[in-house]
Amino acid sequence: SALRNHNLADKINALPERVKNILIEAGKIADDVGLNAYVVGGFVRDLILGVENFDIDIVVEGDALMFSEKLAQHYQAHLTKHDRFGTAVVVLEDDFKIDVVTARKEYYEYPASLPVVEGGTIKDDLFRRDFTINSMAIKLNKSGFGNIVDFYGGRRDLQMGLIRILYNLSFVEDPTRIFRAIRFEQRYDFKMEEKTEEFAIKAIESGILGKVSHERINFEFFAMLKENNIWAILKRMEDLRILKNVYPEVVLSEDLKKLLKNAEENLACLKEKVSVQESLDRTLLYLLILYSNMSFEKAVKLSEKMRLSKEYKSEILKFIEANDIILSNLSGNIDISNYDVYNELKGLSMEILFVLCMLSNEKKFIDRVILYINNLKNIKTCVTGKDLKELGVKPGPEYAVLLDKVLAEKLNGNLQTYNDELEFLKKIIPKKI
Ligand code: ATP
Repeated sequence: SALRNHNLADKINALPERVKNILIEAGKIADDVGLNAYVVGGFVRDLILGVENFDIDIVVEGDALMFSEKLAQHYQAHLTKHDRFGTAVVVLEDDFKIDVVTARKEYYEYPASLPVVEGGTIKDDLFRRDFTINSMAIKLNKSGFGNIVDFYGGRRDLQMGLIRILYNLSFVEDPTRIFRAIRFEQRYDFKMEEKTEEFAIKAIESGILGKVSHERINFEFFAMLKENNIWAILKRMEDLRILKNVYPEVVLSEDLKKLLKNAEENLACLKEKVSVQESLDRTLLYLLILYSNMSFEKAVKLSEKMRLSKEYKSEILKFIEANDIILSNLSGNIDISNYDVYNELKGLSMEILFVLCMLSNEKKFIDRVILYINNLKNIKTCVTGKDLKELGVKPGPEYAVLLDKVLAEKLNGNLQTYNDELEFLKKIIPKKI
């Protein structure tokens, strides 16, 4: 297997032409400028695992800026350089992105600080990484193309399914790695290696997460919300007492846990029953669930801490304000007209509608929401202000009232054609005295 093979040229050969050629070309350019170049990190991990990942990060032993200039020149690509960090991004014509960095040595002056950086070897560069499985490189120069560089046991840990830090102080120096560990555990169904988990727990207990900026925590948290198994991730965060530390507003009550645990299944169920073309925003969906049992004040506070976009924030607050009322108004067996269902739900995003269904355990409620999505949401009157004008009604606020009456009648199934609507309008237009 690839784990025993010290050269991955075969696996690289099996990649899409585009990706393969970029790697070969990068190696040639490295030879031309007399430097060693490697592809590193997640790309190597996923190549060995057989998981698709075309995020190419290249490490150069030496001047990455010079190398990236040559690479950009060769492809006539767009180049962005960050001289201060010795990093560059090359963006090819078809938007294919290549990150290039100078191999560096990093050290931390105090816990949770940003590292001090200086030039180094590939070995140094791999040592500053989060986990052994992310600390491998593949050589790109012609001599040795495809050779694996694995100083820290990355392949062994990939084989054993272990997330292992490279040195004991790793989590103390960069506590965001704890989030990353959890993310990789769930994504690959791996486990933190025993000592690694102990170090994570110790770091969390020491309160170190409180020293990390909200921005960095948020960055990792939102990366988690992009993963598949969000419930497992949140559960792990809860068990390791991370949630309490970073977002104390989120309380995983038994109800909320159940909601999260069943979210994917419910989602799939609902998707089958409704005809939605638009794709759902899963991040928003899970945020709504997480905020669903929160007070308005706490929700405001947390949304600011999470630096949520205006759109997300307003969706969430709208949801918190309205969800109880909507749930009670549309539940129960008493007849509710289509028009009332429509009025209760109009303007709500698909994500809110779905989460409302998840919150309710009443079939009747869910049926009403589904009716709304499938049959009511897009209904509009055929008659317009133009018709009212032709019928001699003076333009004014009365228009909206009259058209809404037509809509109500139409939603309730009493008007079929344009002509039906017109006749109905004529009946309800106030007679001039
Ligand atoms: P993903 O598939 O989620 O993108 P990735 O491993 O490619 O995973 P990135 O966040 O793109 O993750 O990081 C690229 C590489 O940079 C990682 O493989 C790892 O080697 C290194 N890295 C990222 N974050 C850290 C960190 N906090 N500490 C140390 N190394 C890190």
